[in-house]
Amino acid sequence: MKGFEVTMRFVDEFRQPELISKAAEEIRRLADPGRHYRMMEVCGGHTHAIYRFGLKDVLPSNLELIHGPGCPVCVLPMGRIDDGLAVAQQPNVIFAAFGDMMRVPGTQGSPLEHKARGMDVRIVYSPADALKLARTNPEKHVLFFAIGFETTAPSTALTILRAKAEGIKNFSVFCNHVTIIPAIRAILDSPDMRLDAFIGPGHVSTVIGCRPYEWIAQNERKPIVVCGFEPLDLLQSIVMLLRQLKAGEAKVENQYKRVVPWEGNRAALRAMSEVFQLRSYFEWRGLGFISQSALRIRDEYAEWDTEQRFSVPGVRVTDPKAAQCGEVLKGVLKPHQCKLFGRECTPEHPIGALMVSSEGSCAAYYNYEHRKMATANILIQTA
Ligand code: SF4
Repeated sequence: MKGFEVTMRFVDEFRQPELISKAAEEIRRLADPGRHYRMMEVCGGHTHAIYRFGLKDVLPSNLELIHGPGCPVCVLPMGRIDDGLAVAQQPNVIFAAFGDMMRVPGTQGSPLEHKARGMDVRIVYSPADALKLARTNPEKHVLFFAIGFETTAPSTALTILRAKAEGIKNFSVFCNHVTIIPAIRAILDSPDMRLDAFIGPGHVSTVIGCRPYEWIAQNERKPIVVCGFEPLDLLQSIVMLLRQLKAGEAKVENQYKRVVPWEGNRAALRAMSEVFQLRSYFEWRGLGFISQSALRIRDEYAEWDTEQRFSVPGVRVTDPKAAQCGEVLKGVLKPHQCKLFGRECTPEHPIGALMVSSEGSCAAYYNYEHRKMATANILIQTA
């Protein structure tokens, strides 16, 4: 054992209170009290874990965690939801998507609201499930609404390859896959953003590995640690970042070695490059158009590409003026600083996607911090 760094194999070992205390102690020891630290957790899964496990409560007040843009549902512009639903309005089309897409608002309502009005909308757990729907409904066309970073793109690619191999023609993918590196670049280019370091995304890195982050360390001189999703993963990553900052270093480190290979998953990357190519640009909610930041289906697989098979309206929608999703996505505002937070916009009545997805920072803040504070206020009033 060195400090709190021990070998762990089971999930409850990553949640041991005494190890968490030791990690928190080490963070307090390393953090210079005369300095304010701003670290961005890129991934929405980390944001969720930070609120779920109350990690902010064990960090020193001069260490601020900034929530990044790594929630794929949250960064999807409303127009893309409208586009997918517009195609699915056609007769004999089944709209299939992951569960976290179902309550995301489009201008004419969410997929679930469209289902209530009669659209054939199905929740699937994987693109392979959507392909199965196509096999069992040969008289219908199944549109799979694909979202996600490089984490989910390989399974979409493999499903398209399977559809081609089996000659299934009543299946297409409305591709909204995005890539993480250009989003980090856009954040770093943002003039109103000052960051000291990055907690690197864990899930995406299982596919792309750690090498694509090297420019952040080398060119931008920002340390980055690829991190797991348990409380000790996050605290250990913060320790690793503070050690780098204290030593004046900037390098890529991999805290999540038990899952993330440094070189990534070559088979997954091969499948992606077989089926997808980069779009010249793509609109991100809150970040605007970012060049080469999303994937499209190659012409060789046009038969399985919704955008090449159907006429897609290409809707562009501006978010409601008072909604500050963009600022929250860029980490400029905290969720509760949005004017609509907790009043007009709640998980029951979401206005932005950040309040819908479990990885959305507004939903995470509402479900853990906001409810905790509301309960504390009730207890004070009734005491
Ligand atoms: S509270 Fe609602 S409107 Fe405001 S940033 Fe969050 S999701 Fe967007």
